[in-house]
Amino acid sequence: MGDYVIRGTAADGQILAFACTTREMTEEARVRHGLSNVATAALGRAMAGVAMMGAQLKDEGETISIQIQGNGPLQGLAAVSDGAGHVRGYVENPDVQLPLREDGKLDVARAVGLGVMNVVKDLGLREPYIGSTHLVSSEIAEDLAYYYAASEQVPCAVALGVLLYPDLTVWQAGGYMIQLLPGCSEETAILLEERVKAFPQLTTFLAEGHTPEEVLQSILGDMGLEIMARQPVCFKCNCNRERVGAALMSIGKKDLQSLIDEGEPVEMSCHMCGEKYQFSIDEMKNMMTKLENTTAREDLPEEE
Ligand code: ZN
Repeated sequence: MGDYVIRGTAADGQILAFACTTREMTEEARVRHGLSNVATAALGRAMAGVAMMGAQLKDEGETISIQIQGNGPLQGLAAVSDGAGHVRGYVENPDVQLPLREDGKLDVARAVGLGVMNVVKDLGLREPYIGSTHLVSSEIAEDLAYYYAASEQVPCAVALGVLLYPDLTVWQAGGYMIQLLPGCSEETAILLEERVKAFPQLTTFLAEGHTPEEVLQSILGDMGLEIMARQPVCFKCNCNRERVGAALMSIGKKDLQSLIDEGEPVEMSCHMCGEKYQFSIDEMKNMMTKLENTTAREDLPEEE
């Protein structure tokens, strides 16, 4: 079963609901970045969240990101989805090792620490939209729910979960996000709260092998749930040689020249996906020429 997000409505359109299974993308992120167990859990939760947020984008070229800056040993993380269901992400410190919590769970909150969550929507307009809230629990799901309530005035129930095998391979990952739309009745809000409370812990439910459809069915089944769409999602970065080469060029002429002088090809890896790109001496010399030409042009006086 590949990764996918489903979108549905309930209570005559008063509720918008999403659920997803994201095991494969979480495993790919773990392997690509060499993530520790708690880093996998943190990034896996953020990627499940952003995958569902991406399912609300109207155009394939639009993107939405969750950026978390915290003072914990993870040192922050970011996850991005585009409107085509391509998700990518990274953590600043992939090696974080922390003791398990007393209940045996991975201590994501401690790894993340206190800080802020930014949600960045790039809808292809001149400026991206940025919403910022402080972290309320640093467990990511609650923080995302708080973001929607505080920043978008959309009350929202969010659960995100990642389960690992003892060898750290990802066993299950996924989540749900249920939003109360404007004009929603008090009765619907109360009923939803009861249903969410009655729902088992998401990780327990996922461990039993349930699908995203069953997640929504279990919460909204008697509230007129209608599943409208199912979109495949996967880990996919938008990097290429040109972009990574531009990053290499951005170190400037002096540093580029010393790399050329060292006489060895340089390996650069993409921050977002860990993909490695090698640049030969000749390629770096070409970059140098380009940099020199650019500078030369900038030095010319502007024509009147
Ligand atoms: Zn990449």
